[in-house]
Amino acid sequence: MKKTILTADRPTGKLHIGHFVGSLSGRVKLQNAGDYDQMYVMIADSQALTDNFGNVQKVRDNIIEVALDYLAVGLDPAKITMFIQSEIAELTEMTFYFMNLVTLARLQRNPTVKDEVKQRGFDNSIPMGFLAYPVSQTADIVGFDATIVPVGEDQLPMLEQSREIVRSFNNLYGETLFEPKALLPENKTCLRLPGIDGKAKMSKSLNNCIYLSDSADVVAEKVRQMYTDPTHIKVSDPGHVEGNIVFTYLDAFCEPRHFAKYLPEYANLDELKAHYERGGLGDVKIKKFLNAILDEILSPIREHRREFEKDKGAVLDMLFKGSDRARQVAASVMDRIKSAMGINYRKDNKL
Ligand code: ATP
Ligand code: MG
Repeated sequence: MKKTILTADRPTGKLHIGHFVGSLSGRVKLQNAGDYDQMYVMIADSQALTDNFGNVQKVRDNIIEVALDYLAVGLDPAKITMFIQSEIAELTEMTFYFMNLVTLARLQRNPTVKDEVKQRGFDNSIPMGFLAYPVSQTADIVGFDATIVPVGEDQLPMLEQSREIVRSFNNLYGETLFEPKALLPENKTCLRLPGIDGKAKMSKSLNNCIYLSDSADVVAEKVRQMYTDPTHIKVSDPGHVEGNIVFTYLDAFCEPRHFAKYLPEYANLDELKAHYERGGLGDVKIKKFLNAILDEILSPIREHRREFEKDKGAVLDMLFKGSDRARQVAASVMDRIKSAMGINYRKDNKL
């Protein structure tokens, strides 16, 4: 079977370090390993509109920001196809047919949708489009025959729902679509990186992010204000590592080589944690260490971004070219779907 990879991000803001560890860095590795037939990276503007329909400007503006973040982390349009969701009309068409394969109750049970409905204060007035976004996400994936979807943990219920839709479709209309699989980061902390406020998930919509494009000063200030352990008042006090965001981020970003470079008195993170728990290790020191690591990772990304920012026209052009290519693929899948369903009337010589 062909190995086709698809992932997407909503243009609701610039991308953050949660995206980086949860999905982006995995995509770059896959891209550079070259072990795939096709790789698509989509800017999900139509999906972003499902909960930002009153703020189209925000979604519009962030299309280019997300594309710049992609290029800055090393996604390469010469190797993969980057495109804009709303440019592919076939995805909307597929969504319409897939809606028949999902019940309202099933959508309302989706735990990620449930969390997001609560977070957005929709209560009993959930927009239909928002509730149905897992269906449109299914179209995004199967519309390119994608089988591998590198995502953070919050997307697992979406992938499960997509697989159910594919199975229902294939049962009804014959084997036509492929069941996609999630590809999760290996590091557990990266499955769902918490926000700098300690909330369960760093998320553009929660305003608790370190953005890939934040300046070094802004990152340093965010790290300085980071929540650690409220019981660790004096340096000599024993501290807690669990729930301490600085250590959570160290779990996500720190590698043994960082100790040799910035904190040679410790061999690894376990030793640093043990010292913090014993007492005698201050927050300033661990924050400085985290900041140095983040700076090492973010500096080159920031620099690349600055280069690409110089010609935003070229970036847009690249997205339109990618969208043209993507549309051809989605159109051929749409054709197959219509044939399987028996509604490809113009090609149906039994009609
Ligand atoms: P929004 O608040 O608008 O939903 P978001 O920050 O959740 O934005 P998305 O565009 O919805 O970002 O997610 C894009 C991808 O990044 C998904 O694969 C998602 O699983 C992953 N991702 C997002 N936030 C995190 C996080 N904090 N940790 C790990 N992965 C994440
Ligand atoms: Mg999200």
